[in-house]
Amino acid sequence: MKWYRKLHWQIIIGLFLGLIWGLVANFAGLNEFTTDYIKPIGTIFIKLLVLIAVPLVLVSLVTGVTSLNDTTQLSRMGGKTIGIYALTTVCAITIGLITVNVIQPGKTLPPETRDKLQTTYSASIEDRSQSAQEVMDRGPLDFFVDIVPENLINAASDNSNMLQVVFVAILLGIGIIQIGGPKAELLTKGFDALNDVIIRIVELIMLTAPYGVFALMASLLIDLAGDDLSEALELLYALGWYCLAVLIGLTIHVFVVYASLFKATSDMKLSTFFKAIQPAMLLGFSTSSSAATLPVTMERVEKNLGVEDEVASFVLPVGATVNMDGTSLYQAIAAVFIAQALGMDLTIVEQLTIVLTATAASIGAAGVPGAGIVMLVIVLEAIQVPTAGIALILGVDRILDMFRTMVNVTGDAAVSVAVASTEGRLGEPNLDD
Ligand code: ASP
Repeated sequence: MKWYRKLHWQIIIGLFLGLIWGLVANFAGLNEFTTDYIKPIGTIFIKLLVLIAVPLVLVSLVTGVTSLNDTTQLSRMGGKTIGIYALTTVCAITIGLITVNVIQPGKTLPPETRDKLQTTYSASIEDRSQSAQEVMDRGPLDFFVDIVPENLINAASDNSNMLQVVFVAILLGIGIIQIGGPKAELLTKGFDALNDVIIRIVELIMLTAPYGVFALMASLLIDLAGDDLSEALELLYALGWYCLAVLIGLTIHVFVVYASLFKATSDMKLSTFFKAIQPAMLLGFSTSSSAATLPVTMERVEKNLGVEDEVASFVLPVGATVNMDGTSLYQAIAAVFIAQALGMDLTIVEQLTIVLTATAASIGAAGVPGAGIVMLVIVLEAIQVPTAGIALILGVDRILDMFRTMVNVTGDAAVSVAVASTEGRLGEPNLDD
């Protein structure tokens, strides 16, 4: 396939053409044309991403839960797997939050630009202090009370209630496992099929990404620059720092968290591990899809790392759906970056909310390109940062997706080694090919 036919190149081209259009439109007096006829394309693209978020969480989570069968051995291994997955995810988000709070990429923007962005992106900023007050007035257990919906349709109709959707999905998954037999099999197959359909829809939406990114970048420059183009360049500078923060966070996660996990659970050298799974990492990087990479991850983990079949075929597929350390780390950084760029300082409670929602959002994200940014909607809604702020980071998202997917894939493989080793099911590594 020619390079310019590949989606990530098309998105990068869309990004640059959008920037060029924005600059030219500024000089040529095409601002109104851009706002009337180009900006709506970007708005539609963001609405499509928001539209698919609820079904994506519901269906992919039910599929993930039902893949945990109920024999004793599997439930023990299931508990261990989910426990380690949850632990590494929380570590990833914490690293993300620390990195973004140290680097503060959004604050590289001068205060006037942040004020301008705030007016551009947040219709709801005034409501925000009011809702923040409401949050502070709430009782200590109200958070849990809110997770349980009274009405499924209402829960699914409001993106800010995504945790309710997560709750329903888990309940549904457990129900299906418990009834067992042919009916459960039928439902599992149905949800599997629906999952494929939704993943296909995400792929279709991503096909429009180059146009969406073009429109968003062009209108962003128009909205931002007005008479002063230097503000647009300031935004690009801030985006550079944002990307750097994500890359630093991901590197720390791999070399600190996975290395410690290895030390604690097995005798395998970290270098052996990386050599064995390198092809899977590269495939994750170039496809931006942990689901698409799964067959190769599975092969490398079994053949080259010596993880027994039963462990790999359970831990890896679950991981490809629920374990996304790279995604959750990125979501934490992206959410704080957007808030910083819009001049909103997040409180500790809001940062803790990021830990909870980014965990849920990364569990709910499907292993396909762009799923992470769809799920970012949930994190932003939860901390009441305007979701339209996603437009700020969309242009560079596809590139970061490649890096975070590589970490997602690495994480699944690392956990499979840890589980196999502690279950006494890890053979000798084989680096012959
Ligand atoms: N592309 C990622 C994956 O497949 C998900 C994401 O968008 O973060 O693992």
